[in-house]
Amino acid sequence: MKSILDDEELNIPCPRCSKETKKKIGWLKRNREMTCSACGETFGLDTKELRREIARVDRAIRDLENTLKRL
Ligand SMILES: [Zn+2]
Repeated sequence: MKSILDDEELNIPCPRCSKETKKKIGWLKRNREMTCSACGETFGLDTKELRREIARVDRAIRDLENTLKRL
């Protein structure tokens, strides 16, 4: 599902060299692993928590929109 947050960027730290790489939330939802641009390390992304948070924020935004429509 398309989210209003998909274009937001997060800094993902590399577990090997700690260099942070910017990734869009939309990209993170579609991918299970990423490669560090600094050291070439490929590591898995645990996006379960991220997805849950995104779903929560999306719901809150929809609720807010519905509330605003009723004003
Ligand atoms: Zn790295």
